[in-house]
Amino acid sequence: MSNLVEVINLSKSYGSLVAVHELSFSVKEGEIVGLVGPNGAGKTTTLRALAGIHPPTSGQIRICGHDLREDSVAAKRELAFMPDEPRLFDYLTVEEHLQFIARIYQVEGASERAEPLLRELELSDKRKALPGELSRGMKQKLMIACGFLHSPRVLIFDEPLTGLDPLGIRKMKASISQRAAAGAAVILSSHLLHLVEELCDVILVIKGGTRVAFGSVAELKWQIARGSGEVSLEDAFLRITSDSEETQRRDP
Ligand code: ATP
Repeated sequence: MSNLVEVINLSKSYGSLVAVHELSFSVKEGEIVGLVGPNGAGKTTTLRALAGIHPPTSGQIRICGHDLREDSVAAKRELAFMPDEPRLFDYLTVEEHLQFIARIYQVEGASERAEPLLRELELSDKRKALPGELSRGMKQKLMIACGFLHSPRVLIFDEPLTGLDPLGIRKMKASISQRAAAGAAVILSSHLLHLVEELCDVILVIKGGTRVAFGSVAELKWQIARGSGEVSLEDAFLRITSDSEETQRRDP
């Protein structure tokens, strides 16, 4: 399976603060990578760089083979970024958001695509509502519906499950898994480790902007337990992020 996302030596500084340092990893077609790390680890910074919102200070990002810096339109066409705070247009209704996004991305058959998306994200009866009339979880679902509309091959989510009710979490997990099963590469950040464990094939742990672990849940747990019995992902996370050196490597 091919790599749809390739990140090579990504660094991002804000003035003198190095938020991400020499980070490398890749995400294959059909793979779901969970990006985890303590507060301030550099997760949002990494995701914004991947989405082309914050250009990196150095390093290279390739989306479906397109260099994000050199060939940004082609790269951005292949991705959708769903930030942690829903950003919507105050004066567009739910269905007008989808129509607007369809126009920007030149989506063919947009209304046929919008209907099942509205049903999938339980927004059908809110189609005429403005963002101010939606709950927080509904706004999040609308933003995700907008992200799914052009069928991107790379999905980037910052905390997609926070703010959703239990049924919403279950459905969102199913929506994400279905898209990965259909071949999308997914990268998502979350502090909800049990959900990361259920959803993700690979976990990337960062701390202080640096990669400290990258592997399957089983690999991370094995690395920490070293044959001394079962550990939870939470135990593994706490142990990994309290050590400074990388404990689990995987080639980018
Ligand atoms: P959290 O889990 O708390 O959301 P995070 O892992 O997403 O954290 P980032 O938001 O990427 O972390 O922040 C990484 C570092 O970069 C932090 O030290 C933060 O203060 C700093 N930072 C983030 N955005 C900016 C900015 N726009 N200007 C200056 N510093 C920033």
